[in-house]
Amino acid sequence: MRKEEIISGTSKYLMNTYGRYPIAMVRGKGAWVWDSEGKKYLDFVTGIAVNNLGHCHPSVVRAISEQSRKLVQVCNLYHIEKQVEFAKMLVENSFADKVFFCNSGAEANEGAIKLARKWGGANGGRYQIVHARDSFHGRTLGALSATSKKYQKGFTPLVPGFKSVPYGEIGPLEKAVEDDKVCAVILEPIQGENGVIIPYANYLKDARKLCRRKNVLLILDEIQVGLGRTGKLFAYELYGIKPDIMTLAKALGGGIPCGAVLATDAVAKHLSPGNHGTTLGGNPLAMSAGVAVLKTIIEDGLLDNATGMGEYFLCGLRVIKKEFGDLVRDVRGKGLILGVEFVSAETAKDAVVRCSNNGLLTILTEQKVMRILPPLIVKKNEIDQALKIIRRSLKEATVA
Ligand SMILES: *Cc1c(COP(=O)(O)O)cnc(C)c1O
Repeated sequence: MRKEEIISGTSKYLMNTYGRYPIAMVRGKGAWVWDSEGKKYLDFVTGIAVNNLGHCHPSVVRAISEQSRKLVQVCNLYHIEKQVEFAKMLVENSFADKVFFCNSGAEANEGAIKLARKWGGANGGRYQIVHARDSFHGRTLGALSATSKKYQKGFTPLVPGFKSVPYGEIGPLEKAVEDDKVCAVILEPIQGENGVIIPYANYLKDARKLCRRKNVLLILDEIQVGLGRTGKLFAYELYGIKPDIMTLAKALGGGIPCGAVLATDAVAKHLSPGNHGTTLGGNPLAMSAGVAVLKTIIEDGLLDNATGMGEYFLCGLRVIKKEFGDLVRDVRGKGLILGVEFVSAETAKDAVVRCSNNGLLTILTEQKVMRILPPLIVKKNEIDQALKIIRRSLKEATVA
């Protein structure tokens, strides 16, 4: 199909749920993607923190092609070797004792909410979930009930039993968990969709202490920042704490849909056969991809690379902020989740579009923030190229 056919086909045949750029991607390799016209881009969107190993990483390609010849799906009425293999790796590399596999981030958060309520039922009839006001936990009704109001518009009534507090403030959270109907607090260690919001250094530690004191579960949504994005395998490691439940998705299956709920035995033991499930969850294909992803992140030193490259990138962005103080309000990041906050929504949008035209893909988020999510395999020279493109794009914007 030609580009025009693809674009007109989108509006003819697909529901109008995404604001899309007039670009159709057809191929990817490492940190790069190519569109239908042969134009090459440095891909620092990575499918929104999905392609942490870059595109078509040989370990993932090998794993899924081999597995696709053996067994793609079998239902959870039978034991699945690849599930055991992947769950064991996740357990051995995290706080968790048990894993439940599903297919997406929203579905993982649904599972976490249900698990918290099951636990809460056995612990004094608790059911309330406290979440952060501008959070993003997904589009299904349960996850949406824990998500920022702006995504809820038009879909009410939502699921009862949710209440919100401002993110990054311990006082309001303290007050919210006073209610003895609260079973869990769900938080993102760093807010991605809300514009790369990094809370004060001890926020998660304070939240952890508070939850423990009030016998409330702490659920961490690491769907965006987990799996090496911050330079740690899981972002909670940055703060020296452990959650009771953690959700993963995005990067988990190397691009094959895969989500997971991880929990301690003390919490997970409240589930029994028939309580929860999902037909495609934990299928051998997704599991084989997940094993390859996790192995590669750990064995190829990608955590250290994310830390080192993240610092290098942030230094470069700080120089750009100095240079373009009229346009850029703030630059921030942790590992390879970075944000450039512009003075206005207009400037931010202009910068993201110009960067894309100049061959660098980034994501506009919360209107004013250019979110940058390079793959964990990114090299120094690719960051240099990205910085050059950002600088050139801002220069154009200043002239225009
Ligand atoms: C993307 C995201 C989700 C939702 O994941 P989906 O796979 O799109 O359902 C949930 N939480 C966070 C923090 C996310 O970034």
